Amino acid sequence: MTTQALRNTTTVWKEQDRRHHIHPFTDSKALHAEGGTRIITKAQGCYLTDSEDHQILDGMAGLWCVNVGYGRQELAEAAYKQMQELPYYNTFFKTATPPPIELAEKLAELAPEGLNRVFYGSSGSESNDTVVRLVRHFWNLMGKPDKKVFISREHAYHGSTCASASLGGMTAMHKQADLPLPGFEHVMPPYWYDFGAGMDPASFGKKAAKAVEDKILELGADKVAAFIGEPIMGAGGVIVPPETYWPEIQRICKQYDVLLIADEVISGFGRVGTWFASQKLGIKPDMMTMAKGITSGYLPLSGLMVGDRIADALSEGGDFNHGYTYSGHPVACAVALKNIEIIEREGLIERVRDETGPYLQEGLASLVDHPLVGEVRGMGLLGAVELVKDKDTHERYPNNQASIACRDHCIKNGLMLRQVRDGMIMSPPLILTKSEIDKLISILRSGLDAAKAKLG
Ligand code: PMP
Repeated sequence: MTTQALRNTTTVWKEQDRRHHIHPFTDSKALHAEGGTRIITKAQGCYLTDSEDHQILDGMAGLWCVNVGYGRQELAEAAYKQMQELPYYNTFFKTATPPPIELAEKLAELAPEGLNRVFYGSSGSESNDTVVRLVRHFWNLMGKPDKKVFISREHAYHGSTCASASLGGMTAMHKQADLPLPGFEHVMPPYWYDFGAGMDPASFGKKAAKAVEDKILELGADKVAAFIGEPIMGAGGVIVPPETYWPEIQRICKQYDVLLIADEVISGFGRVGTWFASQKLGIKPDMMTMAKGITSGYLPLSGLMVGDRIADALSEGGDFNHGYTYSGHPVACAVALKNIEIIEREGLIERVRDETGPYLQEGLASLVDHPLVGEVRGMGLLGAVELVKDKDTHERYPNNQASIACRDHCIKNGLMLRQVRDGMIMSPPLILTKSEIDKLISILRSGLDAAKAKLG
């Protein structure tokens, strides 16, 4: 197609989009006033192509999910083969299909010790809803029907349904839907840069963990069902907790018999250089949610890994009155199996652990001298750059101006990155090469320069 033809088609799509399509987490009026939707039409490897034929390096792996990169013929073939053989059958009513069964065994092999059974959904939100249902059912079965409250953290993201958004700590989400629902409490996140003024990270990590203990004591341990946390908070700004945090959380949950739930929707499937971040950080969760990287986003699929204590109680507890039409969807599960095979065959986890993860973190560290950069942090192929007006006081520019200017510059110059509050975050595909990391860092640096020039 000629450039003009591409532009014409894009104009038609933008108009259809404006008239009929409501986007998630979007100010529609502003979107269309600012030139409308960017339409991505193709992708290969780590590169997206938009409807006007611009190439963009995808520093976010879609939405933290395209771990094996785009254009994988094998995944398309796995889906095609399964669709021809059996496109759908459910897992209710004493039936199942082979892919979810085989995948369940594989997931039990890969997951942290003691998590041997899986309950499937189609999204992270659904699996976190399942957490709420299953945890409450579990404590009922244990004869402790008062143990029902969930503790989570401010800035946490656990999904968009009413229960998962209640678990989450995003105040903007809460406000619009009268959330959180009763029974969901939030404490300080392990976010040293914003909450740890005057403390060293190790002491702050203990203080943030103590906030959980204090909340348990305030509510009464006999009322608290579970604590849920992303091992590294993702959408809240790639917040890497101090090393002292998780061991304390582990101790506290054990002491008060509060279930520990890891939300590994972002951090699973190699993102930080291990199958799951819990394995890297020494977390021993009672349950763990996963999605995104399980299929590299090629099809929707999620799962809740259930620890033996809970699964054993569940199997003695009669019907579990919960499930989704697409729990264990055979095509999604067939794609997940093939996706896991690719991650293993290509050694992607080792590559992130030994090579590209450290290289990305070095690249980010090289940005700390920039006048706008307050802090960089990350782990594996997760990264964040915190932008400030004043490095000493951590004062930010109003209305996230620095990160918005930086993000807009990056996208315009061929790098897809996301902005959260006044920070830049990234989560590229696990196949990213060192030269692509060089390119990412170089465009990001020019974005910081552009933002600084704009803000003066
Ligand atoms: N948990 C975490 C940690 C997430 O990052 C997300 C999505 N970004 C979710 C849950 C919700 O997943 P989904 O959008 O698939 O419902």
